[in-house]
Amino acid sequence: MDPKVWIGCLACYNDGALVGEWFDALGAGEIDLAQVHAGSPRRLHTSCEELWVMDHEGFGGALKGECAPGDADRLAEVLADVEDFECDPFAAYLSYQGSAEVDESTVSDFRECYEGVFDSPADWAGEYVESTGMLHGLPDEVTSYFDMEAFGRDAFIGGDLYSVDAPGLSIYVFRSL
Ligand SMILES: [Zn+2]
Repeated sequence: MDPKVWIGCLACYNDGALVGEWFDALGAGEIDLAQVHAGSPRRLHTSCEELWVMDHEGFGGALKGECAPGDADRLAEVLADVEDFECDPFAAYLSYQGSAEVDESTVSDFRECYEGVFDSPADWAGEYVESTGMLHGLPDEVTSYFDMEAFGRDAFIGGDLYSVDAPGLSIYVFRSL
């Protein structure tokens, strides 16, 4: 991902003039008024003060809507640590957690609580039961009574886990920290 932001001048915008430029999101917090007005026939005005990210691309769904350039900068810095294969679940994680509070621990928190992508809570339960070996050694007459769906459902109802919709009716499953 190579996130970019379109930073515009709010005062000019409110005055009916779209003044802004595309910049790399990394470093967006350092962009100043002069840089934003440089390519515009409209001169930097004394009322020009606040810069705002009005459009963006390459955030892989991790950024929704508009924000301050500094927030986009911080998010881009965090995204630089996210591997390509993690982008979608990470964006889902942020959509649940909110992307306003991202910092250097956000990616490690995500990796700690991301369980994977599953078809359903029962699908998650099947893999969990298998990986923990909690039914190993028990006779089939016992394990056949184990209710995978109820076990999965309870884990979500109890608040240990939560899910965010994934493509194709799947769910990203996260463990509550
Ligand atoms: Zn302006």
